[in-house]
Amino acid sequence: KQQQPCPVDKEELGVGTWKLLHTMAAYYPDDPSALHRVQARRFFDALGLLYPCDHCAADFREDMGKTPPRVESREALSTWLCERHNEVNEKLGKKPFKCTMRALDERWLKGDSSCWHG
Ligand code: FAD
Repeated sequence: KQQQPCPVDKEELGVGTWKLLHTMAAYYPDDPSALHRVQARRFFDALGLLYPCDHCAADFREDMGKTPPRVESREALSTWLCERHNEVNEKLGKKPFKCTMRALDERWLKGDSSCWHG
């Protein structure tokens, strides 16, 4: 009998969510409209409420309370998000990511020549 796909666990959910968030930040406008800014703030507020891991969401809300989303540009949002992810990395004993635009764009926007299969 073929096995059903399983619901995601905390790790798979985290990896998938960070993929969406960092990619969204990488494509965020350099000079966002008022609408983009408002909705980006709302998006992260909603994520802090709805993220389906209670203790992760609670810590994320607390962290955002101290350091609210920086929605004024692509660079600001990408760097802010990288720092938030590093807070989680630190809590879990993982290595920090270097939050420069060069490193972030390499990871989340451009990749290298092996990425797009021509
Ligand atoms: P991930 O941490 O998921 O990272 C995926 C990829 O992102 C990495 O391979 C790397 O290339 C890149 N990356 C790593 N750090 C950065 C960075 N700072 N900036 C940009 N790119 C980066 N798990 C818990 O156990 N407890 C929690 O409290 C918790 N809170 C979370 C809160 C949020 C908002 C999210 C989205 C996830 C949370 N998680 C939490 C899940 C956790 O962060 C990881 O996703 C999970 O442990 C899997 O880790 P990983 O090592 O496979 O890679």
